[in-house]
Amino acid sequence: MARNKFIRAIFPGSFDPITNGHLDVVQRGVRLFDDLIIAVGRSPLKDELFTPEERVEMIKELVTSIPGVMVESYNGLTVEYAASRGASVILRGLRNLTDVQYEFQLALTNRSVAGIETVFIMTSEEYGFTSSTLIREVASLGGDVSNLIPVSVYERLKKKLAVK
Ligand code: ADP
Repeated sequence: MARNKFIRAIFPGSFDPITNGHLDVVQRGVRLFDDLIIAVGRSPLKDELFTPEERVEMIKELVTSIPGVMVESYNGLTVEYAASRGASVILRGLRNLTDVQYEFQLALTNRSVAGIETVFIMTSEEYGFTSSTLIREVASLGGDVSNLIPVSVYERLKKKLAVK
């Protein structure tokens, strides 16, 4: 079947901060679509460390050399943001079976309320246990997370925690 439709995907998340696991999903995901927007949203259930502006700035620095990848922040419902940007796919990363359970529910909800499909990418096994929440926690207690996040993010994290 011929396909000549432009397919835009969004990769929504809190990215507080972006990790090597997220970047792995971005690098794999961009090959599947015509373009990809990394969409920094706010999670009402999570405590924020970096502001959305700081997160966007950090991510932009990391993806400037990847063609077809953009970075934006958004407020409100992910499906409404996707529609406003003409995206037909939501990209999400999977680490383990716990993610599958939650993501399955989210994807079905998004499809039923907005008809949008979700595409999942399994992360590389080395990042299967990497989460922004754990990184924030471990780093705030003085643990070394330098192999789980890019160097530029690690530097920012150290500065941020020093002033907290
Ligand atoms: P959210 O608060 O929306 O879950 P996150 O920033 O925590 O936002 O995660 C965004 C997406 O990236 C989610 O699909 C999540 O499962 C995925 N993700 C998070 N960490 C990793 C990782 N280490 N490897 C692959 N995917 C990941």
